[in-house]
Amino acid sequence: MKTFKIGGVHPEENKLSAGQPIREAQLPKQAIFSMFQHIGAPANAVVKKGDQVKVGTLLGEAGGFVSAPIYSSVSGKVSKVDVALDASGLRRMAVTVDVEGDEWEESIDRSKDLIRLSDRPELDAKTIVEKIKTAGIVGMGGATFPTHVKLCPPPGKVAECVIVNAVECEPYLTADHSLMLAHPDEILVGLQLVMKAVGVTKGYIGIENNKPDAIQLMTEKAKQYPEIEVVPLKLKYPQGGEKQLIDAVIGRQVPAPPALPIDTGAIVQNVGTCFAIYEAVMKNKPLIDRVITVTGKSLKHPSNLLARLGTPFSQLIDECGGLPEDTGKVIGGGPMMGKALLSLDVPMTKGSSGLLIMNDKEAKRAEVDPCIRCAKCVGACPMGLEPYLLAKVSELRDWDAAEQEDITSCIECGSCQFTCPSHRPLLDYIRLGKSTVMGIIRSRVAK
Ligand code: SF4
Ligand code: SF4
Repeated sequence: MKTFKIGGVHPEENKLSAGQPIREAQLPKQAIFSMFQHIGAPANAVVKKGDQVKVGTLLGEAGGFVSAPIYSSVSGKVSKVDVALDASGLRRMAVTVDVEGDEWEESIDRSKDLIRLSDRPELDAKTIVEKIKTAGIVGMGGATFPTHVKLCPPPGKVAECVIVNAVECEPYLTADHSLMLAHPDEILVGLQLVMKAVGVTKGYIGIENNKPDAIQLMTEKAKQYPEIEVVPLKLKYPQGGEKQLIDAVIGRQVPAPPALPIDTGAIVQNVGTCFAIYEAVMKNKPLIDRVITVTGKSLKHPSNLLARLGTPFSQLIDECGGLPEDTGKVIGGGPMMGKALLSLDVPMTKGSSGLLIMNDKEAKRAEVDPCIRCAKCVGACPMGLEPYLLAKVSELRDWDAAEQEDITSCIECGSCQFTCPSHRPLLDYIRLGKSTVMGIIRSRVAK
């Protein structure tokens, strides 16, 4: 069975909510829509206090080409256009809507009927990309890069295939898994739409072999599309990294920066993004909801919830049995790449794939010992970096050295920290170093 070649680790899976069908979350009383839900320029609010909105009403228009519009996921009255705390821990511009009823824009097709690509022969590549852009679709695996940008390769770069990232290698998370079991046909049509948008005739769906039911179902459904191949993958973290997935599925390595994944001929899209693309193009539905895993060992009902964007995390936790008494920390995302939340009142966004409630015992960090030069972190790094060195130069604030040692290639997977016998907070330092160096590079380019 295939997998990627360099590094990788095997954390405990803890997929507590695997097999839980998707459950629709209740409507929030108030929804908060951050204008910063994607990589790139923030959206600009186009509504004002007092405006009435419906589900699907535009709240914020894209702030540039690398940006995405934001739509309301609820109906009601705009009560605030002001800064609000979001999951990043920052107070940033957001639109707050007090919910009244559940009225949808008429342009959205809410039927469950499957629309196949053959039903819409008039859809050409340009129209598909335009609809994706208009719907505000971004990478839903957590990267939140605007999808229409990824579907427009830079001049001279040619796409040869599309790979659907259905790996979901983060421990605990099962949102993508549940989506494949619930909507395999829509995901396949979504993949066909992406293939048509970038003009390729080969599509792959990479799924790790801890999801045998999804592999079986997707393989069965894909039989009607000879151009699509389901590729079962050997379990290894972080196989969901774009570069690792390309290596695992088609055996090509992305060259060092400034090369891009497209240099291998592959365009990667998350499985949730493919579903959102289907809904955007075939149902005229902007990105207003998503599946999120709410989980944790002490949580009463670990679940996969279909929740409206803007719903406060606290409400989602309540719907899964409430915050356990022994809660030590709540993470936005999974345990490897996720970040601790400062408040549970922050809203879910386009990139919210999971909410992990760690108990006191799990949340407690082990005592940090000195580095013993064992090089385990080097062996685990899927990017071939030297994590102990990157962490050290970041701790010393030696940004030149950090840049020279290629810190910007780090994918923040946490494999180094996971494997370190001295429990050194490698990822914390590397994240600090990476964001600082990226800032330095950006201001150098801007000069
Ligand atoms: S977090 Fe960065 S340095 Fe550490 S293993 Fe992952 S890619 Fe390598
Ligand atoms: S794994 Fe930890 S102890 Fe070993 S070299 Fe890396 S930082 Fe040092």
